[in-house]
Amino acid sequence: MRLPSVRLSLVARFALLSIVPTLLLGLVLGRDLHRRNRDEAVTDARTVAKLTAQLRIQPQLSPGDLRRPLDADRARRLTATLRSELDTDDVARIKLWNRAGQVVYSDDASIIGRSFKASDELEEALDGEVASEVTNLKRAEQARDRHNGELVEVYVPLRFRPGSPPAGAFEIYVPYRAVAARIQAQTRHTFVLLLGGLGLLWATLFRIVAGASRRLSQQAADNRHQALHDALTGLPNRTLFRDRTAQALLAARRDGGAVGVLVMDLDRFKDVNDSLGHHVGDLLLKRVGERIRERLRASDTVARLGGDEFAVLLPGVPDRATAASVARDLRVALEDPFILENDVQQIHAEPSIGVAVYPENGPDADMLLQHADVAMYEAKRGRLGVAEYDAERDQSSPARLALLADLRGAIDRDELVLHYQPKVNLAGGIDGAEALLRWQHPERGLIPPAEFIPLAEQTRLMRPLTLWVLEAALRQSREWRRGGLDIALAVNLSAANLADPALPDDIAELLRRMDVPPERLTLEITESTAMADPSRAQALLVRLRDLGVGLSIDDFGTGHSSLAYLSSLPVTELKIDRSFVMSIVRDLDDAVIVRSTIDLGHNLGLRVVAEGVEDDETLHWLTDHGCDLAQGYGLTRPLPAADLAQWLSRWSARTELDAAGDEDRPVGAPA
Ligand code: C2E
Ligand code: MG
Ligand code: MG
Repeated sequence: MRLPSVRLSLVARFALLSIVPTLLLGLVLGRDLHRRNRDEAVTDARTVAKLTAQLRIQPQLSPGDLRRPLDADRARRLTATLRSELDTDDVARIKLWNRAGQVVYSDDASIIGRSFKASDELEEALDGEVASEVTNLKRAEQARDRHNGELVEVYVPLRFRPGSPPAGAFEIYVPYRAVAARIQAQTRHTFVLLLGGLGLLWATLFRIVAGASRRLSQQAADNRHQALHDALTGLPNRTLFRDRTAQALLAARRDGGAVGVLVMDLDRFKDVNDSLGHHVGDLLLKRVGERIRERLRASDTVARLGGDEFAVLLPGVPDRATAASVARDLRVALEDPFILENDVQQIHAEPSIGVAVYPENGPDADMLLQHADVAMYEAKRGRLGVAEYDAERDQSSPARLALLADLRGAIDRDELVLHYQPKVNLAGGIDGAEALLRWQHPERGLIPPAEFIPLAEQTRLMRPLTLWVLEAALRQSREWRRGGLDIALAVNLSAANLADPALPDDIAELLRRMDVPPERLTLEITESTAMADPSRAQALLVRLRDLGVGLSIDDFGTGHSSLAYLSSLPVTELKIDRSFVMSIVRDLDDAVIVRSTIDLGHNLGLRVVAEGVEDDETLHWLTDHGCDLAQGYGLTRPLPAADLAQWLSRWSARTELDAAGDEDRPVGAPA
């Protein structure tokens, strides 16, 4: 655990860093206090000295008295006057000096009359200033003075008339011991208060710092949690999931195991959100997270990647089959309805799960997640529930992705072209042609639509691509009609187009702009596209039919549509899938299918087209069985626009020949 050590070190650092300046501050304040007390003692001594001089000494003397030592009698009287001061401990010695440096009076009679070398302070006093000094008498020359130890010595000038020079000086010794004791007591008292105050201050700061530090570390821990978890479900988020996957991969590389990654998405979660509200959606996500968590081992990780997408990491999974079976178990577990909101709402989660396994499906977390995601879409598309990643089927393989990137620019670079394959009327004449898209790739040559249209269908490219095809086909149709060639054109739509509500208006606008009558355009929709989302397809087909364009069900026979549904669609044409048509002369089953499809179409009032007519035998068979139109390599492969016009003129020349009686000539071979 890193957490407490961070907190402790911050607090300890504060303790260390703050206690030194606090102590220093205490020391400085203490010393200052001591100095002030001492100064105060000296000031007190000076006041005592000045008052004694003014009130006690000067009234007893005249300037003349200081010229020579006082006689014994006057000295005794003066001592008696000063008795009250001398009897206390406040004054240790008193002297009167004359200007010659002679002691004229002292309470110590033995020094009266003696002369000493004048000290600086005495000189100062004789110059008119009060002077003082703290002296140590331990080494005083008068042995009896030595017991006094430290003293404050004060010299006061004795002036008998204002403005006149001092006639002498009064000296007083105040013992320092008492003062020192007072100072010490005072200093100690103040120091205790000071230390107590500082201690209290420090303790308060310490509490504040420790509290702040605790909050900061809590916050840091919260932030770390938030950065790695999903706020709604509390599950790990993508970042933490990738990190754990990376750890699991390290272990698997070392020990040679597999690692499973599942990506799961709830089908129709959006509907739950839209119809029942976001709070129900949120609740469902939480419950799903909990239910997944319950089914996993403690060492597995379930994460919410965002929206309704969850991921599961299976670190020690033995193999791909086990990972897939965990996925199936999870799906079963989620099949039980979720009861939300006080037992009222019952919701089915219906997940699609993609499975990717290290090492086969990728070396790192990102690749595994991406491939599990691809598999998940596979599961969704095929309504499989669970799908394992299959590189062969992966539309997002690097080569395909590169192609898709190229395709985005193909329209702007003018690399798309249309080829036209005629639809021949079996009763005679040309009905029209189907416009088929090709991509003239600068490096790869002509790319057939099967290689890029499924890619475009997975992106937003399908709309611009279809609009380009429609516009190019209609422009070509206008051009041909201006040249006297009036043929109908068919254009293919894909599933993405049927989900585009703007399409009918777009087509109406194009028809108007290119001045093409709507009945000259047929839109082909494959049977499986029409079946994928029946209600939506039907609504759009009705709008298209209202424009007056023809509608054709392409690749009919492969999509398992029901007759009821089929008859409800506003279509005009059925195109029998080439897989049946190509084998009618060899395969009796296919022949039966084609024959009944022709009947079915006719019963529904539709024109029936056979695509994939590769030879004359097939063409005859279809003619004999009443099929309306044929299209196929046996007639011609899809042709560039310029070649189509030539082919058509050869074809009509040949049919005229046929009409002239050359019945045995193969129908498919132009003259
Ligand atoms: P489809 O609409 O069923 O088009 C017929 C396909 O069968 C064309 O392939 C055509 O070249 C091919 N074909 C024609 N006669 C024969 C034959 O006798 N034998 C064989 N084996 N094949 C024959 P193509 O041009 O490669 O197009 C493939 C599919 O791509 C089309 O199938 C259509 O679904 C799609 N497609 C083509 N152009 C477009 C387009 O502009 N938009 C959309 N959405 N899809 C398109
Ligand atoms: Mg078609
Ligand atoms: Mg077809």
